Amino acid sequence: LKISKESALGRYNEEKSQEIERRYFLQKELMHALRRNEFLLYYQPQFDTRTNQITGMEVLLRWNHPALGIISPAEFIPIAEETGLIIDIGKWSMQEACRQLRHWQKTKSPDLRLSMNLSVKQFYQPDLVPMVTNVLRDNSIIPEHFELEFTESLSMHNSETFIRTIRELKNIKIHLSIDDFGTGYSSLSYLTQLPLDKIKIDRSFVHNMLSSKQDEIVIKAIIGLAENLGLQMIAEGVESEVQAAFLEAHGCHHMQGFLFSRPLPHDQITEMLSKQYI
Ligand code: C2E
Ligand code: CA
Ligand code: CA
Ligand code: CA
Repeated sequence: LKISKESALGRYNEEKSQEIERRYFLQKELMHALRRNEFLLYYQPQFDTRTNQITGMEVLLRWNHPALGIISPAEFIPIAEETGLIIDIGKWSMQEACRQLRHWQKTKSPDLRLSMNLSVKQFYQPDLVPMVTNVLRDNSIIPEHFELEFTESLSMHNSETFIRTIRELKNIKIHLSIDDFGTGYSSLSYLTQLPLDKIKIDRSFVHNMLSSKQDEIVIKAIIGLAENLGLQMIAEGVESEVQAAFLEAHGCHHMQGFLFSRPLPHDQITEMLSKQYI
């Protein structure tokens, strides 16, 4: 018994140290990734199930490392946030995505919209609002076609900088949505205090709503809340017809998920848009 205990501990320590080593390596490599052109953007279409049309796309970042292959943002975004690299990476993504959006608007879908994820760190970047303004102007994109998603976090509450930035972004007419709604630090006062446009229902509720009564109750409550506050909503992580039908029946018509499309590189999106005029 003693021996197996020790070897389990040994394995645990070894895994831990491998994890730390990988993180250290990624951190080192991330510093050069932008210059080496290793980032690419994927786009995941969002659908209106009443019209069966694409209404927008969420931009999802990918890191294609020459030795490790594609690395998930879930792994490298936290490192980028910690090191501050997220500022430059965020700026690059916005430029790249807006250039692509403009191209799609000119050639395929004039009313296509794009939505991007914004890290907490980026809210505290002093030139965020002028930067966004410039990128939109440089690409002739009207702010109504551009959306920023952010998650609620404890640090944002009562932060003047955060609230001011949100108001400034709204002043320039950008759409604002709360991502992963219902998870994390949720304060309902948020919804009435901030000039928000949309709630993104977290995919954990969508995943569990058909098997858990509690999640069913929560998802119905979120839909009711959005309706009563006059907010738009979209359900994330929709993977099955049954889920889509349930959401439809309860009044949520905007959806994103593997059922409709996985996140795809730009050329495959172009092909998809060619088959559909918005
Ligand atoms: P998120 O903003 O909640 O993005 C949705 C995630 O759900 C994406 O993972 C997407 O691929 C995945 N997803 C979409 N449909 C389905 C589905 O039907 N089922 C399941 N199981 N998953 C689905 P991804 O691309 O790995 O991104 C993970 C997270 O990384 C994002 O979560 C977001 O928080 C962050 N992220 C991605 N790109 C960026 C970025 O450019 N900037 C920042 N700050 N964060 C980003
Ligand atoms: Ca998101
Ligand atoms: Ca989300
Ligand atoms: Ca998330």
